[in-house]
Amino acid sequence: MSNIADTIESKRLQDELILQLCSTLSGYLEQSQIDDCVRAYKFSADAHSGQFRKSGEAYICHPISVAIMLAEMRMDASGIMAAILHDVLEDTPISKKELALQFSPEIAELVDGVTKLTKIDGRSQSRAEAQAENVRKMFLAMGKDLRVILVKLADRLHNMQTLGAMPAEKKRRIARETLDIYGPIANRLGMNKIRHKLEELSFKAMYPMRYAVLITAIKKARGNRSKVVDTIESTIKKRLEQAFLDCTVSGREKNIYSIYQKMHLKKVSLSSIFDLYAFRIFCENVDTCYRALGVIHNLYKPIPGRFKDYIALPKANGYQSLHTIVIGPYGAPIEIQIRTHEMHRMAESGIAAHWLYKTDDDQTEKFQARANEWLRDLLEIQKSVGDSLEFIDNLKVDLFPQEVFVFTPKGSIVKIPRGSTIIDFAYAVHTDIGNACVSARIDKQLVPLQTKLENGMTVEIITASWARPNALWLNYVTTVKARSSIRNHLKHFKQQEAISLGRRLLEKELQSMHIHLENIEEDRIQAFLKVMAMPSMNDLLEDIGLGNKMPFLIAKRLTQADLNANIKLDNTERFRQTPLIIKGTEGMVITLAKCCRPIPGDSIIGYFNPGKGIVVHHHECRNRTIVRKKHTNWLDVEWCKDAIGDFSTELRIEILNQRGALATIASTISERDSNIENVSIVDQDDRVCIDLITLTVKDRIHLAKVMRKLKELPIVLKITRVKG
Ligand code: MN
Repeated sequence: MSNIADTIESKRLQDELILQLCSTLSGYLEQSQIDDCVRAYKFSADAHSGQFRKSGEAYICHPISVAIMLAEMRMDASGIMAAILHDVLEDTPISKKELALQFSPEIAELVDGVTKLTKIDGRSQSRAEAQAENVRKMFLAMGKDLRVILVKLADRLHNMQTLGAMPAEKKRRIARETLDIYGPIANRLGMNKIRHKLEELSFKAMYPMRYAVLITAIKKARGNRSKVVDTIESTIKKRLEQAFLDCTVSGREKNIYSIYQKMHLKKVSLSSIFDLYAFRIFCENVDTCYRALGVIHNLYKPIPGRFKDYIALPKANGYQSLHTIVIGPYGAPIEIQIRTHEMHRMAESGIAAHWLYKTDDDQTEKFQARANEWLRDLLEIQKSVGDSLEFIDNLKVDLFPQEVFVFTPKGSIVKIPRGSTIIDFAYAVHTDIGNACVSARIDKQLVPLQTKLENGMTVEIITASWARPNALWLNYVTTVKARSSIRNHLKHFKQQEAISLGRRLLEKELQSMHIHLENIEEDRIQAFLKVMAMPSMNDLLEDIGLGNKMPFLIAKRLTQADLNANIKLDNTERFRQTPLIIKGTEGMVITLAKCCRPIPGDSIIGYFNPGKGIVVHHHECRNRTIVRKKHTNWLDVEWCKDAIGDFSTELRIEILNQRGALATIASTISERDSNIENVSIVDQDDRVCIDLITLTVKDRIHLAKVMRKLKELPIVLKITRVKG
């Protein structure tokens, strides 16, 4: 700022803000704590000195404004100080260590948490991925301390309030992010007040025109209907008084963004939304809530199916209230919410209520505990899924909860996200039940596991001790808990499988040398593991089972006189000379099965045959099912990228039985650089003859070219490849 007048103006604003902060803080903090906050302010102002916001005011005004918002929520002293210092690590050379020294490690941790949320590493990733990664970080930071997200939400709210000077494109981007992430998080934490503010500001930034039109329309509508509102309100009040119920009634302003969403998503007109009157009734206790509901339903006819009891069955974020829609005096539907004052405070402030209302009831504690539990679950999940985008996908189910309620056979209620299947339900009851479920009954009828649950169903899970989660289930589940439990189980199971397969393969190899694994001395095994740089025998066996190490080589090395010498096998050179066709099979004999004659490019599968080495079959080989009974050790094998050679394969061709036909076929094949190895006539009549032709090709592409050329011949009626 070059202009001195502006600088003075800015200083004045700064002083005003800090006064406002201190007076708010004095409402609930001790003087010594307020002094600490002032010290944080001086430190922060010093660090940010010379920095200005786009609007022209000194940068420090931003963190103070954020702190004021949090002070209004009665955030504790450390939280306020963290808010004042929240941009210091990111925008100034001050280090986390210095913050810890100057203030406390706790405050340094909080500021660091907020800072981590801000940094997006967008260089190597797509924007979606970068955003996903950012959200994931946010949850990691939140999991450590809920105050981090409160500072972040207040930070975002102030930024949204001061978007003014920014280019429209950037405004829209920030607004989008706010709607996608911060709004839902505020909602999930039950902080509706802050959520509505964020949503309204975002809506305004994204669609300034629509916002302006809506605001005008709402104002106009409000004027037109104020008489009706008054009539309804006084009628309700009178009835409640007659019933000796101590309640307060107020007309309810609908959130502008939710009005817009309703119009947009449900394609309804503004007038039809405004035909809907909304009231709230506040009661002293839960009992009065239900009695007030009785009075209302007695006064106006309720619309069937629109009554919701969130008191008995709170929403996932802890929200409690009775909702009903009744038909009012002029035939207009009236939406009524009935709740206690306590519930209302919770609905407005959510987890922030913990600081805001230091009441002695345990409701706020419960709320806090629930939020923490949710975060812990999320942290568990983020450990089990590797990818940020996937984490976000999972999170979305959790952030936009739409629940259904189902019953266990004993009558307890389980709340589960809409779209959940029986498998989700089983995991929601208990992980062990999920893992062991085999089938289920809904309302006494047997149903498939992928059946989606609906409100009011009674679900009985049938388990079996032998049952295992199935990888296919991942296609049916929606809840994060089910998904991560199945994943974990499969991962563990796969490992166990690999170890036992590895053991079988190694033992078989050793048997052909007339040695038993258990007869090899422990010392020798330990020495061998050391040479192989393997932490344990199970790791080695797992590696063999997964196909990373060949049992033949391991057996050979393990039984060789000098353990250290076996790094260079005597015939290593020979292995190098013959080109590999199957990945990872150095030193092994490969046999391509005669029944299906696989060629490079085919999907293949193999097994160990002591006499033949690895026998490779085509994945679709019919013979394989017969062989499978004898060989349980099937391995997933893969062609080498540069598998070179002539590979035999077999075609079955129906040819018009005419002179010279076979010669035409033969010349066509050789024109395509392929050789015929063998021809045999399988069937022949006057008109058609069917031949089996064995020819050599380089790979699938080559074969496809040959087959295409053959198909073009007028004498060829049908051509198929023989696969077992
Ligand atoms: Mn900030």
